[in-house]
Amino acid sequence: MSKGRILSGMKPTGVLHLGNYEGALRNWVRLQDEYEAYFCVVDWHALTTLFEDTQQVRENIRQVAIDFVAAGLDPEKCAIFVQSDVKEHAELHLLLSMITPVPWLERVPTYKETQEQLRIESASYGLLGYPVLQAADILVYKANAVPVGRDQLPHLELTREICRRFNHIYGDIFPEPEAALTECPVLPGLDGRKMSKSYDNAIYLSDSSETITKKVRGMFTDPLKLYKNDPGHPETCPVFAFHQVYSKGETKQIASDCRAGMLGCVACKGRLAETLNAALAPVQERRRQLEADPSRIDRILADGAERARAVASSTMVEVRRVMGIGSTSMECGGLTPLC
Ligand code: SF4
Repeated sequence: MSKGRILSGMKPTGVLHLGNYEGALRNWVRLQDEYEAYFCVVDWHALTTLFEDTQQVRENIRQVAIDFVAAGLDPEKCAIFVQSDVKEHAELHLLLSMITPVPWLERVPTYKETQEQLRIESASYGLLGYPVLQAADILVYKANAVPVGRDQLPHLELTREICRRFNHIYGDIFPEPEAALTECPVLPGLDGRKMSKSYDNAIYLSDSSETITKKVRGMFTDPLKLYKNDPGHPETCPVFAFHQVYSKGETKQIASDCRAGMLGCVACKGRLAETLNAALAPVQERRRQLEADPSRIDRILADGAERARAVASSTMVEVRRVMGIGSTSMECGGLTPLC
């Protein structure tokens, strides 16, 4: 039985990698059976940093949507859509921005971090308002829960603050969304740093099995284990971190063989490439099918947007009513004055 409604999204900044899969997508696939679920490709969010390269955003939207379905999101069970196809997100963002104090946004850690990382001298209004758009994404569906990792809790807390402020001023319209907290494994990149497209150290869901095998062969290992018979330190080795996720049941043996100098890195990587390719085979197969029928992803996104819009537009009718915004005709979308 459904526990309520959830919403989550990912920015189309590039094709998705295993870090995205293990850190979020795998969990979404599980949650689609437990909740009425809405998953969106948040293209407006991507514009906060990629506004000069909208063509790239456009291309990535499709690839990310394909990754969603290839990873196991089932359009029969959940709505998969693109944020900008449901304009109600933008309207609610505007209205929430009227009640959100600027200092709340200035203190969000990622606001400063993004400016520093990307060396932004003068941050845009859109970047500052990012968390308000995020609040609108969630509240427009009256989501009861949001799947988040521990690092995203401050963002959700801000959504909850905005929600409480709105409800306090205009009446209880929105449920306060809870965190659907899950401890997800954090996969390192091929070089041991955080897996990231910008570090060029990722394995992508769209990689072929040959590419995956090649990437695994090139992975960093314990630098102190130079020869096969040298004792290794699996706890410092990125290959072992992958084994802990994909070779469950074998990790104790791998760790003890590595420590005892009975397992060489070449063989260890060979085993990982095999298990990884077996684990990703269904994802790759679904990806192949989606790419062979390009109109299918269009239909999935159109259907998802329609389902999302039905909920979002009904929320906006209520929001406009309690805020006293617009003429009566706005209650039917403001499209026809006499409906
Ligand atoms: S044997 Fe495996 S776990 Fe040990 S250092 Fe080599 S790759 Fe890492």
